[in-house]
Amino acid sequence: MFTPPKLLRISLLLLALSTPVAVTHAQNAPADPANQSMPDDSSKAAFVEYMHTNFRQDRKMLAWRYDRYQALLNNKDMTREKEKKAFLLTAREEFTLERNKPRAYEHAFLDIGYGVTISGPHLVMRMTSALDVQPTDKVLEIGTGSGYQAAVLAQLSNQVHSVEIIEPLHERTKGVYQKLVDAGNAPYQNVSLKAGDGYYGWEEKGPFDKIIVTCAIDHIPPPLLKQLAPNGIMVIPVGPPGKQTLLKVTKQVDAEGKVTISRQDVYNGRLSVSFVPFTKAEGGTWSGKGNH
Ligand code: SAH
Repeated sequence: MFTPPKLLRISLLLLALSTPVAVTHAQNAPADPANQSMPDDSSKAAFVEYMHTNFRQDRKMLAWRYDRYQALLNNKDMTREKEKKAFLLTAREEFTLERNKPRAYEHAFLDIGYGVTISGPHLVMRMTSALDVQPTDKVLEIGTGSGYQAAVLAQLSNQVHSVEIIEPLHERTKGVYQKLVDAGNAPYQNVSLKAGDGYYGWEEKGPFDKIIVTCAIDHIPPPLLKQLAPNGIMVIPVGPPGKQTLLKVTKQVDAEGKVTISRQDVYNGRLSVSFVPFTKAEGGTWSGKGNH
């Protein structure tokens, strides 16, 4: 019997191991978020068991995620089944700084480095729910930051795009996504990240059915309004530093092509929000430019 030399044996073994992986990857259609099942949320123990068995996630984190889930349900930060599922499936701890992992499920925004923050889970889910994302929606996020908001969106749509102005933060988050995709988290394959000034949106990829802006500005950027598809929804914090109104903006286009923009306060005047500023590439913040 022919026994290949050791080096050849190793190469053959590597070839045998690598080929099926490469083929499967190439044949993989984009993961359809609608196909992902709802985790068992009947009790904390059932949830932790379900997620640990299916996704090998950390039990302590899962227990904290479940506690936050209950708080978000009580607060009506999400009401539809699809957004509940998106929250339960998204490991927020993967997107925080290492030192903040134990705080991942607190009712709080967290420092993510570079002078910016990740919003609290209640606000992320409030904004996500206001968008009512459909599986086939093309979604644009302005302000990728840690990538957590985009990850939640990736459980709802298979076409998520996100723009971040701080280049090293964009690079770091791209690395986080790559690691998660390599570990088998299929929905994250459907997130496209770009470094740039989100004031101008992402024209080549538009129009977008849903746009979510996670940095504060005193007007709605006209390029974003332009890239919003007819009947599209944009959620954006509009107002002065430290005190914005979370707006849900809808764009209606009638048969004659007349565009009507309507605005609604997501919190109905009950509370204002505070986001990090919408900055310009050359420094400073965007203000007062638009006519909306
Ligand atoms: N959605 C993020 C929240 C990040 S905070 C998350 O889930 O973690 C807001 C982000 O908006 C910051 O990362 C900030 O750098 C970014 N940002 C500010 N101005 C921007 C601009 N003009 N274009 C793109 N991103 C911008």
